[in-house]
Amino acid sequence: MQYLSTRGGISPVSFSEAVMMGLAEDGGLLLPRTVPRIDRETLAAWQELSYPKLALEIMSRFIDDIPRKDLEKLINRSCETFDSEAVTPLVKYSGVHILELWHGPTLAFKDVALQFLGNLFEYLLEKSGTTLNIVGATSGDTGSAAIAGVRGKERIKIFILHPKDRVSPVQERQMTTVLDDNVVNIAIQGSFDDGQAIVKALFNDTEFKHSHNLGAVNSINWARILAQVVYYVHSTLTLKRTEKEPVVDFAVPTGNFGDIFAGYIARKMLPRGTLRNLVLATNDNDILSRMVDSGDYSLGEVRLTSSPSMDIQAASNFERYLYCLSDCSATRTKQLMETFAAAGEIDLSGSSDQIKRDFVTASISGSEVEQTICSFAEENDCLIDPHTAVGVAAAAKHRTAGIPMVCLATAHPAKFPEVVEKATGKTPPIPPQLDGLMERPSRCITLPAEIEEVKRCIEKQALSPTDAG
Ligand SMILES: *Cc1c(COP(=O)(O)O)cnc(C)c1O
Repeated sequence: MQYLSTRGGISPVSFSEAVMMGLAEDGGLLLPRTVPRIDRETLAAWQELSYPKLALEIMSRFIDDIPRKDLEKLINRSCETFDSEAVTPLVKYSGVHILELWHGPTLAFKDVALQFLGNLFEYLLEKSGTTLNIVGATSGDTGSAAIAGVRGKERIKIFILHPKDRVSPVQERQMTTVLDDNVVNIAIQGSFDDGQAIVKALFNDTEFKHSHNLGAVNSINWARILAQVVYYVHSTLTLKRTEKEPVVDFAVPTGNFGDIFAGYIARKMLPRGTLRNLVLATNDNDILSRMVDSGDYSLGEVRLTSSPSMDIQAASNFERYLYCLSDCSATRTKQLMETFAAAGEIDLSGSSDQIKRDFVTASISGSEVEQTICSFAEENDCLIDPHTAVGVAAAAKHRTAGIPMVCLATAHPAKFPEVVEKATGKTPPIPPQLDGLMERPSRCITLPAEIEEVKRCIEKQALSPTDAG
């Protein structure tokens, strides 16, 4: 399978090259040349497969430069860190099915992709005999999931910048209590945007980037999307087997558009009509909902909500959808992205009919989130986190009788105990992953929000290519 850039400025690359490249060198995002189709017979034959076996079948259709045996090992190792044998169990409640994506080491759905990406990086670096220094900025969840994905790996060092005292105590401890030698936590005396600006500057410094073999783990990496395609197919198959349901809808709490784009790819793979609606659920940061409703994709101010991992305006994966919407025209995609970069908006109203066939949407307010957490607890005796609640509330606006609705549960409620307690009066039980977290030893460097300081810190500790074990 060949991978192409959405901006058409590079020659096609292999899967492994696409993974190591992250962002395409022309500034675009990488996509497979075609999406493989799964016919009804094949899908029927997959009915009984375990999650790792299904992942192998799906991924091997997108990956032809890693031997199947090796890929199988990578997948198995990535699934073993989940505390559920189903990896992403599907649980039935009144009116909806909840797809629990939070059984990994950091209790958020990002583990599904980052456990796999960490193992994949290690494998590819082993093969090429090189090392990688990962640098990233986080506002909370991505940092801990990325650290959990690469901790202890010989050929990788990871530097994660977080805004000092501006992430939740649990989120901070989830990062700083990881004491492996290859993990460096940096608390920046500034905001998340300062951290992100520093990381961008480091990546734009081509000399620095190449001499230190810098790599990224943000959600633009194709391997992350691919890993997420699996649970859409897995839950669809579970419903087919246990409930004899031929058609399924999904509700997806959306920020950077990575998760829902994986659903979009899953729908393209599956036989026509199997995966019907994708409900694009946003919080007060409603740029994507406006885009679906009226074709208006225009930046607003970032608003802080109770679902912070979705407090995003420009969604980094949206370019992939623009490319599909433009009938795979890189010229048109490039043009649209340049307009967006210059003006902060693009008018997609000419494509409204297609967009409305692809997604339905709802934007959910803070009070609706609270009400949803509360009523879900009353009806089902189960606590959901505020991100999940955005999806559940949006799902309620788009349910069709007789068609099952799967709501993606993207974080464990114990990651956001304050919101859950305020809504329900109940404290979420502490899962083993967080047990004793506040008492564990921690390590973190504090630095001013200055590029040169961060640069020096990285230079001092970065792996050189010859450090490979
Ligand atoms: C990252 C995240 C999301 C948003 O997912 P995208 O792929 O960025 O759309 C939703 N919920 C939680 C808990 C997250 O961490």
